[in-house]
Amino acid sequence: MTKIMLLFFLILSLTAKSQKIRIDESLKQNIDLENLESPLELWINFLNSENDRDGAKYWNKSEIEEYGDSTYFQMSDLDYLGIGDKIKNLKFGLTVLSITQLDSLYKITSKFEIEINDSASVTPFIFHVYAKTDKSSADLKLFNPLPLNQQLYMSKCQIGNITYIYPSNHDFDKSLAKKQNRLLRNIAKEFDLDLGYYNYFFTIDRTTNFQLRGYDFHFENIGLEAPSGRADVANKIAYSNGCGEFYPHELIHLFLNPRYPNAHLWFLEGFCTYFGYSRGKTLEWHKHKLKNHLMNHPEINLNNLTELVNVDYLTGYRYVLGGYFIQLAYEKGGADMVKKLLSSGSSDEDFYKALETFLGIKKYSLNEYIRTNLN
Ligand SMILES: [Zn+2]
Repeated sequence: MTKIMLLFFLILSLTAKSQKIRIDESLKQNIDLENLESPLELWINFLNSENDRDGAKYWNKSEIEEYGDSTYFQMSDLDYLGIGDKIKNLKFGLTVLSITQLDSLYKITSKFEIEINDSASVTPFIFHVYAKTDKSSADLKLFNPLPLNQQLYMSKCQIGNITYIYPSNHDFDKSLAKKQNRLLRNIAKEFDLDLGYYNYFFTIDRTTNFQLRGYDFHFENIGLEAPSGRADVANKIAYSNGCGEFYPHELIHLFLNPRYPNAHLWFLEGFCTYFGYSRGKTLEWHKHKLKNHLMNHPEINLNNLTELVNVDYLTGYRYVLGGYFIQLAYEKGGADMVKKLLSSGSSDEDFYKALETFLGIKKYSLNEYIRTNLN
């Protein structure tokens, strides 16, 4: 919500404030001394390009070939203003802060800051990219931070169907990874799901996750650190921070979602939460919390369930109650009954109809049913 509000405010207030590419004074003083002219010139030329497509000539060839000549710059969050072009975004206010050198690799750190008016500004990101000599042309070119940070700071280990990519300084817990693999195989077997091979990328906390992706500061990284994850189903990758080796929720999405593309979101999230936890906590933990929350809030009407979003920063309604419905179905009719919920359609109407048909809970009685039976 904050992001949307801020964007609205910015669009109103941004007039002719573009074209601000600056070099910080401390960096300026060290350019000659530290021989940093070439990487700095490369980065400035890139930023002064008309748009991303025009800037492609400063980027390394293999990433252009892999991602295309307008989407090679993979830091998608930099499209902060939603204009669909990173260079055009950065022109609203970029200061190059530093360039550090590690052998032949240059790390270029910049601050993206937009002035709203004379007394207010917003800094969505401090981020870095890399420059090094491109093998194909022998010229200095720009590189995305994640693949290089992965080489510098992450290790890899395959256990069963999962290739774990984790911080090199982390003591990898093989038994936990094996436990996870057994869990995934059992679920796949019981529900006739095709278990493939997946990459699972984890960091210790959210801050490290952002840093690996190139964001030394990210505007979404404010407040309490709590476990979270996400599934990139199309690319068969799960990401998490804060829970280490064991985060089955996102991995289940990778083989559940493709099998049930028309399932209602609440049943998908519910399945992953019941069998694979949510934010590192069991379904029982979330149910217990919701039960207390509902006792303190008699005004919450659960008859319009799908309009409800979050109980608090760790518990979302669709995870805890979605999980509860999957649990009820599983206890009532095993895997077959769960499959019926997952196959009952994606609209809210389909969702309420499935609850009535398969679990016998009518929409108008949801509030009473859940308040009486939860736990
Ligand atoms: Zn999920």
